[in-house]
Amino acid sequence: MELSDEQFVRYARHLILEEVGDEGQERLLQSRVLCVGAGGLGSPILMYLAAAGIGTLGIIDHDEVDLSNLQRQIVHATASVGKPKVVSAKETLERVNPTIEIRTYPDRLAPNNVESIFADYNLIVDGTDNFDTRYLINDAAYLGAKTVVSGALLRFEGQITTFRGGVEGHRGEPCYRCLFREPPPPDTIPRCEEAGILGAVAGVIGTLQATEVLKELMGIGDSMSGQLLVFDAIGMAFRKIRYKRNPTCPLCGDIPVITSIVD
Ligand SMILES: [Zn+2]
Repeated sequence: MELSDEQFVRYARHLILEEVGDEGQERLLQSRVLCVGAGGLGSPILMYLAAAGIGTLGIIDHDEVDLSNLQRQIVHATASVGKPKVVSAKETLERVNPTIEIRTYPDRLAPNNVESIFADYNLIVDGTDNFDTRYLINDAAYLGAKTVVSGALLRFEGQITTFRGGVEGHRGEPCYRCLFREPPPPDTIPRCEEAGILGAVAGVIGTLQATEVLKELMGIGDSMSGQLLVFDAIGMAFRKIRYKRNPTCPLCGDIPVITSIVD
């Protein structure tokens, strides 16, 4: 694949980086990334991935833009209140970079559609805000041999990590269930609308996720696989926690219990 004159100019600041260059940029242009959620995390993820020239960018979200989203969901604008989030996000991203393909799924990711949707992508970015979807992404990506760059937010905190233990060459690297085996009981989980979130914290975590996606796709630098990075905006501090595959993990352990996605 040859870069066009337009692409040489558009991606000039990437091309000049020794670690990226023509080869790295061509890899991004050939990549297919699915972002689950076009909300607080999905907004910066999608903006940076579109700008970076990810060749095919998928967006799945079942929701519509609400006025209370705009405090942090910067891919959406006031004029888009009431529109499906995937439509609003696509309009913004096409203004940023009309040269990439953007595919939209105005659906909720569920056991009955996850495999067919994931099949078209080589990397999944998790920008969801609920545990059911997070476990579904983890399990389906592991079974389908996809890399996941995961992020989560609460109040003034956020965290990111990467799972790719299902991918050839990365067997033995841990999954989300190695960290947290089962979803917490529903009544113990504080949700964003109850607990609140400082909008810019979503920008920090989503931007870190976008950074990790680009690095994973180009195969440069240290991976966040097996490492949880926790950000605390109040103390303005980052903490890194290393974790390993759990041999008793129901998904990637020695005796797997979860061997397919059950509808
Ligand atoms: Zn596991």
